[in-house]
Amino acid sequence: MSRVFHRHTREELPSAAKGEGCYIVDTDGKRYLDASGGAAVSCLGHSHPAVQTAIREQLEQISFAHTGFFSNPPMEALADILIDQAPEGLERVYFVSGGSEAMEAAVKMARQYFLEIGQKQRTKLIARRQSYHGNTLGALSLGGNMWRREPFQPILLENAHHIAPCYAYRDKRHDESEEAYGLRAANELEKKILELGSDTVAAFACEPVVGATAGALPAVPGYLKRIREICDQYGVLLIFDEVMCGMGRTGHLFACAEDGVSPDLLCIAKGLGAGYQPIGALLVAGKIFNAIQQGSGFFQHGHTYMGHPLACAAALAVQKVIRDENLLENVQRRGAELRAALEERFGNHHFVGDIRGRGLFIGIELVADRASKQPFDPKLALHNKIKKKAMQEGLICYPGGGTIDGQQGNHILLAPPFIIDETHIAEIVDKLGRVLDSVF
Ligand code: PLP
Repeated sequence: MSRVFHRHTREELPSAAKGEGCYIVDTDGKRYLDASGGAAVSCLGHSHPAVQTAIREQLEQISFAHTGFFSNPPMEALADILIDQAPEGLERVYFVSGGSEAMEAAVKMARQYFLEIGQKQRTKLIARRQSYHGNTLGALSLGGNMWRREPFQPILLENAHHIAPCYAYRDKRHDESEEAYGLRAANELEKKILELGSDTVAAFACEPVVGATAGALPAVPGYLKRIREICDQYGVLLIFDEVMCGMGRTGHLFACAEDGVSPDLLCIAKGLGAGYQPIGALLVAGKIFNAIQQGSGFFQHGHTYMGHPLACAAALAVQKVIRDENLLENVQRRGAELRAALEERFGNHHFVGDIRGRGLFIGIELVADRASKQPFDPKLALHNKIKKKAMQEGLICYPGGGTIDGQQGNHILLAPPFIIDETHIAEIVDKLGRVLDSVF
């Protein structure tokens, strides 16, 4: 009997023994094609020799030195490589250990920024429904997945407010262009800011491409640009959560670069260390760093393992591999191929409503009725059935749901490693076909 408090307390899970490129092998020798990188994490696949070597070499130098006392070489080098490629205006990197920590740090940094510049009345936060920003209390308060929020609602932040997501498949009217819909959706932010009192709002947070709660849902062209304009007009900081969609997943190192929009604070995690070590980061606009440096001089927040040398060495190696092997090109090319193969196989499937995404970040939205886009009854727990069946088939995909008009929507998220080739694509489509055939 396992003594581990697993997240699923009633399920017995296979035990992962080994990683081999795009595959995980369990202790019984069964092979699983990792078509979602777990939850969009393992972007280089498993057991990459360059990353293994980097971790070993760092371990021989030093494995821990508290950041209250020391900087360290891999942390400095990783900050350089990130800032050299970052969207305009982002000048500093604050390291943490994961995505929720990055979001917590973003919210607290936004608050402290306004204290530093003498706008202490800015206390309110706005985010979107159908979003996920992490499981810690601050990040969960921003998130819009009702199922995740519900048990903890009484202890969430009361100053977090929500607007609609940019969800063209569901919310764009038939007589509306994508651009017109994008403006209409973004203008909800302006309405909310005015309703709350424009000088009381500190920050707005969103995922440029929504991951776990909507299934690789990109904003329509122009939406994020209008969001940026509104934030600038009312002095609200813009936080992009690229924990899942960032670090090359969409075919560009930063997803927001495709929209030509820079945030004030940008959160990254999963693909940063590709699962070789736990690491996340917050990229910070120069104006925020300067306000804190020239004000109190100290960001009143921190974690013991921030800037961990082994984590930074691993992430540095991951980022060098992506750059040196031109993997973002592979993400774009294989992403288009995978998307086309999915369209061909499932485009007319009775229960497939939409296939969408960018790069190797692809979502398949499942609906009970294609014409009305009616979600499945949540009691069916479809995502659990899909996950189980996929595991039996030797396929790791990431089925999930968000709340659509109070009902749980369903999708399957695919986020395979950047190194996949055509044989992996064929295997994903083939196995997924068997999963869907058996579930419905
Ligand atoms: N933000 C987004 C967009 C995510 O997808 C996730 C995790 O799935 C998080 C934040 C939280 O990251 P972590 O699980 O590393 O705390």
